[in-house]
Amino acid sequence: MTAMNRGRKHVGIIVSVPGVLAGVMSVAAFCAVSACPAAANEATTAPTTQPAKEEVMLTICYDNNPGRENLKPAWGFACVVRGLEKTILFDTGGDGRTLLANMKALDVQLAEIDLVVISHIHGDHTGGLWDFLQARGGVPVYMPAGFPAAFGERIEKLGGKAIVADESTAVCEGAKTTGTMGKGQIEEHGLCVQTPVGWALITGCAHPGIAHMAERATRLVESPLNLVVGGFHMGGASRQQVEAVIEQLEKLGVATVAPCHCSGDNTRKLFKEHCGKSYTAACVGTSLRFPSQEHGEEPRPSSP
Ligand SMILES: [Zn+2]
Ligand SMILES: [Zn+2]
Repeated sequence: MTAMNRGRKHVGIIVSVPGVLAGVMSVAAFCAVSACPAAANEATTAPTTQPAKEEVMLTICYDNNPGRENLKPAWGFACVVRGLEKTILFDTGGDGRTLLANMKALDVQLAEIDLVVISHIHGDHTGGLWDFLQARGGVPVYMPAGFPAAFGERIEKLGGKAIVADESTAVCEGAKTTGTMGKGQIEEHGLCVQTPVGWALITGCAHPGIAHMAERATRLVESPLNLVVGGFHMGGASRQQVEAVIEQLEKLGVATVAPCHCSGDNTRKLFKEHCGKSYTAACVGTSLRFPSQEHGEEPRPSSP
């Protein structure tokens, strides 16, 4: 159990996976299940800011892991963050038509989206941006360093504002980028999101390494992460390699994980085996809800 969670009664994340009954994950489960005695104590400092008060919800609207029937699975990743000061679209999948159709099917209105964060240059994360901007109209688009100038110019042509987030950048109250990682290679950043029960890290492909990104995020938010969700980029990783990453995440005090997109089927299987209840099988349409802890509210299931 991490110090972050000590003394809290019933804190959890509600998971709505299409076709699967919603479940509650204990935020302390990751370490408890995988028996890592010293894990939590190494990365525990008090958060510098007050936790978010309102419910925060992450909805995966683009992923290659299939969900319910009216959502199209396709290679790539996109996730909508709701409940903060601004509504954020993190990545845009590979294809605009699929992104917009899935958003509609998931009841995400285009007008809701206040800003976009692009994780890295690969087409399966940027491909939907142009159709999105055309349909939504210009919004700020945060991207890591190292993008070609033409990318920013194209955003501006569609009325958007291209913002390079080299260092960690607050995109709104309760959400900040990790800062650009993987300099000189595949440059990428993740997004740290503050929820009522701790911080979540969302990654696109995690090319700089998922443990490395989680470590950066943990240092940045000065607290163990409640959740790491997104692409872990570990397709083809050996059991040994996966177990080493799990161990690193445990040491950081990560409470729950939801690897999807490019994480690899075998990697997901190993995470599931090892992490038990603190693992979520995320796919297109998965919603992760962090209910408000005000007034001792109990988590409620929600329909996807
Ligand atoms: Zn990818
Ligand atoms: Zn990639």
